[in-house]
Amino acid sequence: MRTNRTFTMLKPDALEKGMIGGILEKINSAGFRIVGMKLTQMSQKDAESFYAVHSNRPFFEGLVAFMTRGPIVAAVLEKENAIEDFRALIGATNPVEAAEGTIRKLFASSMTENAVHGSDSDANAAIETAFHFSERELF
Ligand code: ATP
Ligand code: MG
Repeated sequence: MRTNRTFTMLKPDALEKGMIGGILEKINSAGFRIVGMKLTQMSQKDAESFYAVHSNRPFFEGLVAFMTRGPIVAAVLEKENAIEDFRALIGATNPVEAAEGTIRKLFASSMTENAVHGSDSDANAAIETAFHFSERELF
């Protein structure tokens, strides 16, 4: 996996509220190229494994229930400094703390229902991309 790529999910709340177009517009305007994209839904097992790092936290069950309750858009994005720049574009985990103009400030409604995921490292971007995409689905 190249280091100028990151992985994102537009979460179930974003799809339920018809916010895909608005979020993709922000992503495009910020200079990210879409390398891969699909509509999919995480199973219980998928979400538990994707968020395994949080398995002992009190919010884990709610997080898994939220992430599996409807479809998501999974995507791979390319840009110089993709990981850091995308984290800046989405803003803080809690939308109340997210900076003005960030995706979470604009589209998220709570700490759990925060509209979008962004990988936190090159290593995790590679793992998360492989979780959802085969090589032939990346362009
Ligand atoms: P993501 O990994 O989805 O991009 P993040 O990196 O900003 O979010 P993490 O610490 O990785 O935040 O947490 C993963 C997800 O778990 C968050 O997006 C949020 O939905 C949920 N979460 C994290 N901390 C809390 C909390 N204290 N209360 C409720 N939900 C939480
Ligand atoms: Mg995270």
